[in-house]
Amino acid sequence: MNIILLGPPGAGKGTQAQRLVDTRGMVQLSTGDMLRAAVKAGTPVGLKAKAVMEAGELVSDAIVSALIGEHLDASQDRGAIFDGFPRTKHQAAALEMLLGEKGRTLDHVIELEVDEEALVERITGRFSCANCGVGYHDRFKLPKVEKTCDVCGAHEFKRRPDDNEQTVRTRMAEYRAKTAPILPYYEERGLVRRVDGMASVEEVARQIDAILDGLPARAVRL
Ligand code: ADP
Ligand code: ADP
Ligand code: ZN
Repeated sequence: MNIILLGPPGAGKGTQAQRLVDTRGMVQLSTGDMLRAAVKAGTPVGLKAKAVMEAGELVSDAIVSALIGEHLDASQDRGAIFDGFPRTKHQAAALEMLLGEKGRTLDHVIELEVDEEALVERITGRFSCANCGVGYHDRFKLPKVEKTCDVCGAHEFKRRPDDNEQTVRTRMAEYRAKTAPILPYYEERGLVRRVDGMASVEEVARQIDAILDGLPARAVRL
């Protein structure tokens, strides 16, 4: 099964993708993570992407589609969670071609519906383990033991340079202008499923599980 998690910055795509990796053994393909790795390694792609990411704008379709192409095979047997890709109509077309070449399907496009104002708080409170990368939040998900990663026990954490209010506004504008318009394309194919991204992490997870297990998502809400 191959799925897309779609939603603005801070909607919870990375959090839910991480969980699906842990519980279902699927493979998370996050173009944001790939780009940050390229920036860190100082590759030609990283050098091109750095300033664009810091400004909160979109990196070119050619770069991100090539990154997905390079990483796609790793998910062949376990299924892919596309996290933060596609973000434009061009990227959606590129994904369709890449999957088609491998005889793979796209099963669900899961839209996380959220209230944009709440996202600013989610983004500015976001941090992650510097060692294993698992995500936390100043208010919504602190480590169980202070300053100690739940997963690996490390004591170093990091914040993204683009997780500030001003950049978030630009990223949201980019989402509205370029990413939201790909939804009708998937709606025509009957692939779009919506979940309430403002619910708790556990409730969002439950709604996604219901979709992946073929149950009507809304019907299982109590
Ligand atoms: P978020 O967690 O806010 O959804 P990501 O980690 O997915 O953000 O992306 C961070 C930044 O990386 C984006 O603001 C953009 O500059 C770049 N980026 C990531 N994925 C893409 C993509 N598919 N197309 C263009 N730019 C991307
Ligand atoms: P995205 O990948 O869509 O940009 P993240 O999964 O990184 O979003 O979530 C952004 C921040 O909000 C993180 O700090 C995360 O811990 C927190 N978060 C994610 N989902 C929820 C939720 N349902 N309720 C409250 N906080 C959440
Ligand atoms: Zn850790």
